[in-house]
Amino acid sequence: MTALPDFAIEAKGLVKIYPASKTTPAKTALNRVDLVVPRGSIFGLLGPNGAGKSTFINILAGLTRKSAGEVRLWGIDIDQHPRSARAAIGVVPQELAADVFFTPRESLELQAGLYGVPKGERRTMEVLNALGLGDKADAYVRQLSGGMKRRLMVAKAMVHNPPILILDEPTAGVDVELRRQLWSYVQALNNAGVTIVLTTHYLEEAQALCDRIAIINRGEVVASEPTAALLRRLDTRAVVITPQEPLEHAPALDGFEGKLRPDGRLAISFKSEAASVEAVLSAVRAAGVQIRDLATEDPDLEDVFLALTYSDPAQGDPTRD
Ligand code: ADP
Repeated sequence: MTALPDFAIEAKGLVKIYPASKTTPAKTALNRVDLVVPRGSIFGLLGPNGAGKSTFINILAGLTRKSAGEVRLWGIDIDQHPRSARAAIGVVPQELAADVFFTPRESLELQAGLYGVPKGERRTMEVLNALGLGDKADAYVRQLSGGMKRRLMVAKAMVHNPPILILDEPTAGVDVELRRQLWSYVQALNNAGVTIVLTTHYLEEAQALCDRIAIINRGEVVASEPTAALLRRLDTRAVVITPQEPLEHAPALDGFEGKLRPDGRLAISFKSEAASVEAVLSAVRAAGVQIRDLATEDPDLEDVFLALTYSDPAQGDPTRD
């Protein structure tokens, strides 16, 4: 037995440039990405559409060739030992591509064959049972509900017993009920020792499920840390006040900074861990501003990406070029 790796996945300096075509210029989809996924984690790769999430996963899965950089899966370099590196992962693709002419049992047997799992070592029923599909082993796939089809996709990715399971946007277009069901299966697999990586553009999903989150935007990793630490960093809310009388400029506030918006409202950002709406309102009243109306705002994911990706040019940022 070799020792288990500390990291299920390690990417160093990963670059992907899609070459130019007649109609589109060359596109850098991943720009020197460094990322490690600790063994045993449920790791969320979060980013808006076009961030580079699928490109990253497709490189791991061997579906896309990287332009530069190194990747290790379960400690194995994908260039040096492509077959054994890929055997360490199971990938659940974004598209639902169900084999309607097969039963789940046949579908899994076929997949195991593709992975070269010998007949005597196949665990078809064990995998189906683990995903709650044991009683559907011999039903036609076209008779399965949407949720069962999703679970069958996960089962197919697990036939060769990989220590890492990768799910690309597992709950895109899936209703709330089904989403929760899938989450609980993913958690059960993780409890059984499988390292999970999932991509999503829902902060809520990453937050609910993942113990670590990396945020990727425009091909660059802008954060990668334990979920709790990331959420603390994102914990910014704003109180937005409509003043009784129009303000000429933002008043000086004790302990807070107000910004006057073009619509005449005064916005004051604060960390909800460190201050309360009441404290903000006291500071506003103390500055002599009478409040006609007020609202609170939570940051949305776009704000978060912007906050983590761009610095205020007026202040400058020596860490970015
Ligand atoms: P995500 O999965 O985060 O939505 P993708 O990895 O699909 O992002 O895409 C990253 C960027 O690379 C996008 O700008 C996308 O348009 C571009 N891209 C993806 N696949 C291709 C391709 N086959 N050819 C050219 N550009 C691509």
